[in-house]
Amino acid sequence: MDLAALLDRIADDVAPEIGRGSVADYIPALARVEPRRFGMAVAEVDGRLHGVGDWRTPFSIQSMSKVFTLALALSHGDGVWTRVGREPSGNPFNSLVQLENEDGIPRNPFINAGALVVTDELAHHGDAAETLLRFLREESGNADIGIDAEVAASEAGHADRNRALAYFMASYRNMRRPVPDVLDQYVRQCSIAMNCADVARSAVFLARHGVRNDGTRLLGLSAAKRVNAVMLTCGTYDAAGEFAYRVGLPGKSGVGGGIVAIVPGRCAVCVWSPGLDARGNSVAGVAALDRFTTLTGWSIF
Ligand code: GLN
Repeated sequence: MDLAALLDRIADDVAPEIGRGSVADYIPALARVEPRRFGMAVAEVDGRLHGVGDWRTPFSIQSMSKVFTLALALSHGDGVWTRVGREPSGNPFNSLVQLENEDGIPRNPFINAGALVVTDELAHHGDAAETLLRFLREESGNADIGIDAEVAASEAGHADRNRALAYFMASYRNMRRPVPDVLDQYVRQCSIAMNCADVARSAVFLARHGVRNDGTRLLGLSAAKRVNAVMLTCGTYDAAGEFAYRVGLPGKSGVGGGIVAIVPGRCAVCVWSPGLDARGNSVAGVAALDRFTTLTGWSIF
């Protein structure tokens, strides 16, 4: 398969979708991003890398960070699963409604409540954002990856909903560290800026069943399978059913407009285009992944 030519074709096919939707504006710094951007990269399990469009332009990874923090937390053991579930929520990513009925245990690690718990769990082993940054730099081979201070400050200044989620869980004793500390680490983790190539390279261990680019193992076979399973069922929030239907791959979106998807045994794909649909998923990004699995036949189904 000529993946470079395929990516060129996908970029042409989705051109009408680029710029559709609206950029996230509840974090003011994200509202300033130019919506007509599109990039896509594929990192194969053997190390080959392909890209098209703005695939070398850094953007805010936002909730894509949640895949990596979950994997890093699981690399220390299964403890996190006593504090967070793995059922799709069917609700928006920042929803509070299910927490009260479920005793402060978030539905899954990819909605904000669940990701705050994962960050709290990872923080047990050192600052979660710094741990994540180190991992992403090592996996991608790009030592320049960093936290976008402007996005972090902007998000920290508009974090009332996440603060409410964290305090609510604390009232059920499902926060170990002080809420301001967890929130600070969570905001910095979401504010990391990366390009499509670096995200795809950093995620390819999930296509390699847990084995990192240097050949060492981050996760066992079953933990890697589980991260992919939770991505499939919960990675795009209340659109996870539609995403599985259209794309048929584990995928995780972020409100910066990125989506990372895994083809087990083959590759990791990262696509970026800032225009979001009503559920917070990139319009052109979903369309591009839809074309990718249609043209390659590489869905997990
Ligand atoms: N940092 C964002 C938030 O907490 C992440 C949301 C997202 O990407 N879906 O609201």
